[in-house]
Amino acid sequence: MLSLTSVIHYYTNGPAISLPDIRLERGEQLLVLGPSGSGKTTLLHILAGILKPTYGEYVLDGNVVNTLTQAQLDALRGQQIGMVFQRPHLIDVLSVEENLILANYMAGNDQVIQRAKELLDRLEILDKRRARVSELSEGQKQRVSIARALMNEPMLLLADEPTSALDDKRADIVTELLISLTKEQKSALLITTHDQRIRSRITNVVELNGLANTAASLTQEQKETEK
Ligand code: ADP
Ligand code: MG
Repeated sequence: MLSLTSVIHYYTNGPAISLPDIRLERGEQLLVLGPSGSGKTTLLHILAGILKPTYGEYVLDGNVVNTLTQAQLDALRGQQIGMVFQRPHLIDVLSVEENLILANYMAGNDQVIQRAKELLDRLEILDKRRARVSELSEGQKQRVSIARALMNEPMLLLADEPTSALDDKRADIVTELLISLTKEQKSALLITTHDQRIRSRITNVVELNGLANTAASLTQEQKETEK
């Protein structure tokens, strides 16, 4: 369903990030471990179609993502990819339910209030559905952002260090929910973290080792020639 092959990303005025090859099927989970600066967010941005890698191929559901037009990419992302950010990116002045419905709207889908309610119920924050996001705790906001990422039933759920702002108990609950909700709808789940607490939950692990790779050792001149 997802394959990433021979991807290297060169940031202008930044490092070269060489990423491991990744294969992931629906219903599977993958944990990407690596210290800060090792390229976890870069990887997720490539998988979300936000960042186009300098080299290599990314295929999602038969689409060669790095060759799509912007409009095709936006459609694919809206329909098929859910993203949970490190810190919740919600609209503070809207209610919890409105934030979820907005995800339908942004993807051009029908608004499914029933789906919002079901997800909030599973995440044990249904009683907060009319509350403004600004009235929630960090842990509650993170659960709302998980619900929002799942609103369009994406085939791929990407979570970027989703537990880093949570205490042990909440980190555990959030990880468990990410796994069970994605398993239920047969989505692929990819979580990045430097949090060893998640490690016991997911057996399929890829480690990013920072910049100690061949790409980083290319001289500036070689990079220019290769471009
Ligand atoms: P992580 O999420 O694992 O902390 P990132 O993917 O954010 O790592 O960053 C990997 C490396 O790329 C870091 O050295 C970071 O400074 C660099 N980097 C990230 N974004 C940019 C950018 N837009 N321009 C230049 N360098 C960047
Ligand atoms: Mg990061």
